[in-house]
Amino acid sequence: MIKDIKSMSAPEIEALLNELGQPSYRAKQIFSWLHKNKVSSYSEMTNIPKTLIALLEENYPLRGCAVKQKQISAKDSTVKYLFELYDGEFVESVVMKYKYGYTVCVSTQAGCKMGCSFCASTVGGFRRNLLPGEIVSEIYTAEKDLNITVSHIVLMGMGEPLDNYDNVMRFLELVTDVEGHNISMRNISLSTCGIVPRIYDLMQKRLGLTLSISLHAPFDEMRSRIMPVNNKYHIDELLKACRDYAGATSRRISFEYAMLSGINDTDECAVALAKELKGMLCHVNLIPVNEVRESPYHPSTPERVKSFTGILGKNGITATVRRKLGSDIDASCGQLRLRHTKGNG
Ligand code: SAH
Repeated sequence: MIKDIKSMSAPEIEALLNELGQPSYRAKQIFSWLHKNKVSSYSEMTNIPKTLIALLEENYPLRGCAVKQKQISAKDSTVKYLFELYDGEFVESVVMKYKYGYTVCVSTQAGCKMGCSFCASTVGGFRRNLLPGEIVSEIYTAEKDLNITVSHIVLMGMGEPLDNYDNVMRFLELVTDVEGHNISMRNISLSTCGIVPRIYDLMQKRLGLTLSISLHAPFDEMRSRIMPVNNKYHIDELLKACRDYAGATSRRISFEYAMLSGINDTDECAVALAKELKGMLCHVNLIPVNEVRESPYHPSTPERVKSFTGILGKNGITATVRRKLGSDIDASCGQLRLRHTKGNG
């Protein structure tokens, strides 16, 4: 069991309290303080005895997120946070406002092992996995800071969620708990670069979330060049897992395709992509790549994007171009942390 109380389920908190000779009913109270009231300190738990608070403070310190930096987009009110974790690691979260409510984009790891060549999160290498309680804290801290309630979550921040599988599964349990934040699983998207065995594990869980796959190229040679994970799990294998997933869950898969000018945005790529996805319950999200100082890519021109979208459409694949939010505040994850850790932010 993780010795982090904010990462524990209510039954786990109950077991811990029983060990400390405390009554079971306190577990529900504490769980609700943590996940419904979103407190960041034990002292705010007004119906918990002082002696128990002292005991918990000493043995189970609360691990949250401290706001280290905050940027607000002048263009669209997107807010980006740089959070500091208990051990001095940094992660980023972004809050976006849509017609249907607030969406928060959370990080699941400090740094990343995946090494995608266009992505800023990967530049400093991997630091560590986030605890489930730290991932929920990203949401709670942003909500409290902005005085809002978030209705949608995307796991598209720093890190590879399926490389921190157990903690991410627990995070999903916590954030959808009716005694906690109670966010609908339908309002959650999990994005992965394609760790095939974990996609099958996720499939077995039959969750109502949306699975997003960062595909970014229709050819193995090209995909391996920009996403090293493709050397391990090739496109065929990945797309088979996606077909199986969509078949088993009846949930539409969302494919992310970052458009890199002159690399993966040709008509030939569009034709090949349409062929690969033919017949699958899916949708393609085209994202003109956000320029990252450390990588050589540029976003595709609007004409290229239009032609690409047109070819997909003609071949029966629905595609949308992602609206760019927060472009004035480096809102693609990893960039702020990168500048901060380099000391020139
Ligand atoms: N590791 C997961 C989730 C984090 S990245 C994944 O790979 O899906 C979230 C999304 O942002 C992914 O689709 C990723 O490929 C994309 N992304 C990363 N850097 C980007 C950039 N510079 N421009 C556009 N999209 C980017």
